[in-house]
Amino acid sequence: MKITVLGTGDTVGTPKVNCDCEVCRQAKAEGRERLRTSILIEHNGQNLLIDTTPDLRRQLLAADSPHIDGVIWTHGHFDHFMGFADFYRVQREIIKVYGAPEVLDYCGSVFNFIRHAEFPVLPFEPVEICGMEVTLFPVVHDTPTYGMRIRADGKTFVYSCDTRAEICAESLALMRDADLLLLDGIFPPGVNIAKHMNTADAERLGKELNAKEFWCVHMSHKIPWDYAYGASDMQTWTL
Ligand SMILES: [Zn+2]
Ligand SMILES: [Zn+2]
Ligand SMILES: [Zn+2]
Repeated sequence: MKITVLGTGDTVGTPKVNCDCEVCRQAKAEGRERLRTSILIEHNGQNLLIDTTPDLRRQLLAADSPHIDGVIWTHGHFDHFMGFADFYRVQREIIKVYGAPEVLDYCGSVFNFIRHAEFPVLPFEPVEICGMEVTLFPVVHDTPTYGMRIRADGKTFVYSCDTRAEICAESLALMRDADLLLLDGIFPPGVNIAKHMNTADAERLGKELNAKEFWCVHMSHKIPWDYAYGASDMQTWTL
């Protein structure tokens, strides 16, 4: 599996529109950005895209226009699915979209104008997508939201975007011992909001889960560019 984070930003991205904080100023001065969080996984010539952000067009161009063989939607917040419209006239085949039934119902209903095929996936039941074993598990957000464990060639990638730290034991069991773990770390330590982890929560969970490698994604403009566990847009890992 080759895993690329196409974006590592939160809902509004970094730099944030109309913000003059130090991180945003530095971003503008140095041409840095955190696009909205999305992940591309290449495996045996197939490409699986996790979430279709409002930055999708730029993200597909940055990744050299990969043919997308499957999409997984994690949840129905706009920063995770509204960019699906960017597939309009981009691929001739019907796009295959996977996700939990309620997520597919909600997100899919917005995109009747784009031909796509929906494949409901039940949590905790492994399915094969793009030649990989994918298992969705529920996390804790303010709308039904799913993380996933993806296995191929004896390697394990675990991803959970938007979530609080209080994840159920059954989901946590699936998240353990990953070769690569990417977690939501939206704010610095000390900033607590109801539906996300801050970076201290994420680091604590990353240690508990015994991941070989751990990074934060879905970071806001409050996270400095040199944060030790902060992934960068277009960072890649080969498992
Ligand atoms: Zn989000
Ligand atoms: Zn800012
Ligand atoms: Zn969300």
